[in-house]
Amino acid sequence: MFSSPFKESIIKRAVERGIVKINIYDLRNFTHDRHKVTDDYPYGGGAGMMMKPEPLAEAIEEINRESKSRVILMTPQGDRLTQSRVKKMSQENRLTILCGRYEGIDERIRAHFVDDEISIGDYILTGGEIPAMVLVDAIVRLIPGVLGDEASTEEDSFSYGLLEYPQYTRPENFRGFKIPDVLLSGNHEKIRRWRRKESLKRTYNRRPDLLEKAELSDDDKKILEEIRRYEE
Ligand code: SAM
Repeated sequence: MFSSPFKESIIKRAVERGIVKINIYDLRNFTHDRHKVTDDYPYGGGAGMMMKPEPLAEAIEEINRESKSRVILMTPQGDRLTQSRVKKMSQENRLTILCGRYEGIDERIRAHFVDDEISIGDYILTGGEIPAMVLVDAIVRLIPGVLGDEASTEEDSFSYGLLEYPQYTRPENFRGFKIPDVLLSGNHEKIRRWRRKESLKRTYNRRPDLLEKAELSDDDKKILEEIRRYEE
């Protein structure tokens, strides 16, 4: 499941350039029975299977043998993945990401071997692999040197607490739809102000909850007041 997404584009280049190293561990290699069983029935009955604790514990111990990594469990019950959490994780030296399957993993692994629990949203996927890929992708692009232009992550939506302003590329006139004149003005200060205003407007209209936590200057507050008055 992991080989194709990690062998494409930006992640592939980051690995090739030695900026990140991604190791995939197959839990079956940490079993000791002939059939390499990693799942079992839940105590107390109920539908579905659980991931057994021993292979997970042995894999974590092997990974952490020389130095402890931060162990993250992908689970719909975890803290919601946000850009600020991604940023914090991108500053860690090593992360171990556990992917559940079936009904999830034995609770004792969660309680005694896991540092952080992360959810990618309020919906249930069949396994933790896709959530882990989401996490890796989000983290890797924040590691210095991975993207060509460092500024391009700083201005992304959520990075500074707001949604990003609209962006346009050539042609200037696409099927009669023109780009805003200000972007052709060459006046950097005017463009900066327009972008800030559009960013505030977008956030106000689509994600007003973000405005409660965003760091807003006096100028931003004035612009927001104007937007509010205009929208009412
Ligand atoms: N029975 C579990 C529960 O209700 O919390 C859900 C198990 S889910 C079918 C199987 C695995 O997929 C989970 O152990 C987890 O690793 C992963 N998973 C599913 N949805 C996820 C989400 N929204 N965020 C992160 N991981 C998720």
